Amino acid sequence: MIPVELILLALSPVFAGFIAWEWFSTHRAGKGLYRWQDSLANAVLALLHQGSDMLALLLLMPFFLWLHQFRLFDIELTASSIALAFVLQDFLYYWFHRASHHIRWLWASHVTHHSSRQMNFSTALRQSLTYPLSGMWLFWTPMIIIGFTPAVVFAVVALNLAFQFFVHTQSVRKLGPVEWLFNTPSHHRVHHACNPQYIDKNFAGVLIIWDRLFGTYVAERDDEPCRYGITDDFASDNPLVITFYEWRRMWTEVRHSRSIRQLAVILFGAPKAAVERQDGSETAQQG
Ligand SMILES: [Zn+2]
Ligand SMILES: [Zn+2]
Repeated sequence: MIPVELILLALSPVFAGFIAWEWFSTHRAGKGLYRWQDSLANAVLALLHQGSDMLALLLLMPFFLWLHQFRLFDIELTASSIALAFVLQDFLYYWFHRASHHIRWLWASHVTHHSSRQMNFSTALRQSLTYPLSGMWLFWTPMIIIGFTPAVVFAVVALNLAFQFFVHTQSVRKLGPVEWLFNTPSHHRVHHACNPQYIDKNFAGVLIIWDRLFGTYVAERDDEPCRYGITDDFASDNPLVITFYEWRRMWTEVRHSRSIRQLAVILFGAPKAAVERQDGSETAQQG
């Protein structure tokens, strides 16, 4: 077993405890934030994601070890180098996540995470098994080139993901000054919302500073409650339908494409929903 996978597996009882607590407390308050079909799909998707990640690591570890021989620096493991690894990986995560909303090849995987109309701790488990195919790992290669070992890189990737579990909740409103520096439940609720002013905002993993720096930050407003999910009319609790929903739509378009340019736009252009939103707003402006 690879240690990186152990980090998330070791934390799974903690995750299960938080889900149980949130389900119980919101159920008692009659809020109905959970649907068991949705949460079950999330749990299956988490297992599929873990399985495909482990398989991918079998291929990626040798590649990353090979790449590591071309490193620019020999980095010793110290408190400051570990802190640097966290910040650097979080910075790269921001760009991976932002790219995942703007490039369809990446969105085809990431849409799984956004396809639920529920928002609760179990939504964090809703991940795609196709991330290795989309090339999430490409975004970590700069860290290997700089000189961090693959083990350190995969460990900080896993810890970043583990942190993000805790921002998937409606049970925490706002956290005062913490909101300035860190990704919080409030910031991440905005990220999962499909209200026009919230779409494609707050891409942060751990630190919200990247959104503030690069112009993608939006605060959650009390007078604009989040509506969760994607703008498409998608509704399924079948993990395989959820996983391959966008890939299938893309494949249909690929089969009908008539030029290399058209093919490139289908695969690497903006996700279809984003193009439709763009067209809609242009038509509205013209009209
Ligand atoms: Zn996202
Ligand atoms: Zn999320």
